[in-house]
Amino acid sequence: MVKDNKGLVIGIDLGTTYSCVAVWQQQNNRVEIIHNDQGNNTTPSCVAFTDHQRLIGDAAKNQAAANPENTIFDAKRLIGRKYSDPLVQKDKMLWPFKVVAGVNDKPMISVKYKGQKKKLCAEEVLSMVLSKMRDIAEAYLEQPVKSAVITVPAYFNDSQRSSTTDAGDIIGLNVIRIINEPTAAAIAYGLDKRNDCVGKRNIFVFDFGGGTFDVSLLTISNKVFQVKATGGNTHLGGEDIDNKMVKYFLEEMKRKNKVDLSGNPRALRRLKNACERVKRTLSCVVTTDIEVDCLFQGIDFRSSISRAKFEEINMDIFEECMETVDRCLRDANMDKNNVHDIVLVGGSSRIPKVQELLQHFFNGKDLCHSLNPDEAVAYGAAVQAALLSGGIKNVPDLVLKDVTPLSLGVLVSEDVMSVVIPRNTSIPVKKKKQYKTTIDNQSLVSINVYEGERARASDNNLLGSFVISGFPPAPRGYLFDVTFVLNDNGILTVTGEEKSTGNRNEITITNVKGRLSTAEINIMIQEAAKYKSEDEKFLKKAKTMNDLDYHIYKIRKDLKKEDISSKLSSKEMEDINFTISRATDMLDGLIKIEDIIALEDCLKELKAIFKRITVMEKVE
Ligand code: ADP
Ligand code: MG
Repeated sequence: MVKDNKGLVIGIDLGTTYSCVAVWQQQNNRVEIIHNDQGNNTTPSCVAFTDHQRLIGDAAKNQAAANPENTIFDAKRLIGRKYSDPLVQKDKMLWPFKVVAGVNDKPMISVKYKGQKKKLCAEEVLSMVLSKMRDIAEAYLEQPVKSAVITVPAYFNDSQRSSTTDAGDIIGLNVIRIINEPTAAAIAYGLDKRNDCVGKRNIFVFDFGGGTFDVSLLTISNKVFQVKATGGNTHLGGEDIDNKMVKYFLEEMKRKNKVDLSGNPRALRRLKNACERVKRTLSCVVTTDIEVDCLFQGIDFRSSISRAKFEEINMDIFEECMETVDRCLRDANMDKNNVHDIVLVGGSSRIPKVQELLQHFFNGKDLCHSLNPDEAVAYGAAVQAALLSGGIKNVPDLVLKDVTPLSLGVLVSEDVMSVVIPRNTSIPVKKKKQYKTTIDNQSLVSINVYEGERARASDNNLLGSFVISGFPPAPRGYLFDVTFVLNDNGILTVTGEEKSTGNRNEITITNVKGRLSTAEINIMIQEAAKYKSEDEKFLKKAKTMNDLDYHIYKIRKDLKKEDISSKLSSKEMEDINFTISRATDMLDGLIKIEDIIALEDCLKELKAIFKRITVMEKVE
C-alpha cells in the first residue's frame, strides 16, 4: 500500500465540510498552510455541476442555493458505505441531491451535468475535492505535486480508509499514508509545545468539525506519539447544529407566517447558509439577527436568536459530545485528572458552551487554544508528509504510532466473534492465533474476517472470507494458524495456514463492501481527465468570450470619437460593424458556437481592428 513517495509531498485534511492543504517549507523549516484562490485557508469540500461547467470548492458552495440538486457536499459520509446502511438512509433524507443504489448496493449520487444525467460514487466526488486541493498547492508551490498524506477520522474502518486511497488513485495522486485526524492534530500540537514537552504527557484531542466528532487520547514521550484510545460519532458536527437551527426557524415561520418551506430545497439551502452564519456569530456575541430576503413566496424572513436559545436547541448534541469524551477516557482506563492537555480542533470547538462543558468535565482545567482549530490537522499531515518524503532536512523526527479503531477477528462456531487484534492496539501490528477444525476429517476451513465490538460475529461487519483447503484426514480439533497483519495505513491482510501441508491462503481486505475494482478506477481516471479537459475548455471559452466583450466595448467607444470614425472609409465601417454584430450575436447566443475556433477567429478579427484604430489614435 505504501507507494512511490518521490517528489514533494503535501498534507491534506480532507474534511467532511471543509478541506485544508499544507506543506513543509524547507527554506523556513516550518509548515505553511496554503490559501486557495479566494485567499481562504480552508476550502469547502463541495462539488457542483451546472449546464455549462463543473465547480469545486468556494465556487461550488457559493452557487449551492441556486442549484441545490446538483451541488454535492458531505460525500465523505458515503465513503466505504453501502446504500442500505441505515446512516446513508438517514443522511439521504437531509440532502437536496439525489442518492440512489448502484451495483453491489453502492451509493451513487445522481446529478445533471450539461443537460445529461450523471451518476458519481463518493470516491469520485472526493477525488474532485482532492484535485482542487492539489491545484491549490501546485499554484502556490509553482511545481507539480504527485504525492500526499491524507487524514481520516479515527474511527474510519478498513473499507473507508481504502476507498480514500482510491479517491487519490482516480486523479493520479499517490496517497503515501493515511493518518488519523486527531493524531495529525497532536503532531501539530507536539511541535508547538515541544520545548516544554518533558517526560510523558497525556493529551486529549477534541475534534468537533462540520460532519464528524472525534476524540482521542494520546501520549507523547521522547518524541513518540502514541494514540491510546479513540472514540467518536460519525454523525455529530456543525451541520447537525445547522439542521437543528433550520428546524427551529421552520417552526417559527409556520407559526408566524403560516408557510412551510420544508419542501423547497432552494429556500432550505438559503436558510441553512444563514443559520451557519448565525451560529458562527453566536460564538462571539450573545444575541444576533437572522435575515433572509425573499426566502419563500416573497416573504422576507427576519428574526433573532440568543446564545441561550441556541444552546437550548443544541444541548442534546453538546451532551452527547461529553458522553463520548467520558467513554473514551474509560476505554483508555485513564482518570481525567491525569490528562495534561486538552486540545481543541475543528470549527465547532469554537462554540462557547462546548468549551464550557468540556472545561467543566475536566474539573476546570484550562483548554489549549494555541492551535488554529481549522488548520491543525493539515499542519500535522504536512509534517508527516515531510517525514515520509525523505531527503528533507530539519523535520523534527517524530515517531507516530496509531491504533486500530475497531477489533478485528474471525468467526468461530456458534456465531462467536474471536478477536485477533483488539480495538486500540498500536499499528502496524502482526498477530497470530491458532484455531481448531470442528468436525472429524475436515478437509477445508472457511475463514470469515469481521470488524466490530459485538460478541456475535453476525452483528459485526464482515470484511471478507477465504478458504484453506487440503487438510489431512484427522479427528476434529486439528490445529491451523490465522495471522492478521495490519499495515501503517490500517489496512489488513489475513493469512490462514495449515502447517503440515503448508497449504495457505490470504486476503488483503480490499475487495469487499463496494470498494472499487481496478477496472472501475481506470474508468474513473479517464472520466477525471475528461472532466479536467472540459473544465479547461470551459474556462478557455469563458476567457475568449470575455476578451470578445472587452474588445467590442473598446472598439465601440473609439468609433464614437469623431477623429477616428472620420478616417475610416464607409466600406471599412461596414466591415467593422459586420464583425462587431457577428461577435455580439455570438455573445448573446444568437449564433450557435460549435467550437471555440469560431470565437477565436472572431476575436482575432476584433483585435486586428482594435490595433488599427489604436494606431490611428497614436498618429493623431
Ligand atoms: P470538518 O473537518 O468536519 O470538515 P471543520 O473542522 O472545518 O469541519 O469545521 C467546520 C464546521 O465548523 C462547520 O460546521 C462550521 O459551521 C463550524 N464553525 C466554523 N467556525 C465556527 C465558529 N466560530 N463557531 C461555531 N461553529 C463554527
Ligand atoms: Mg476536520
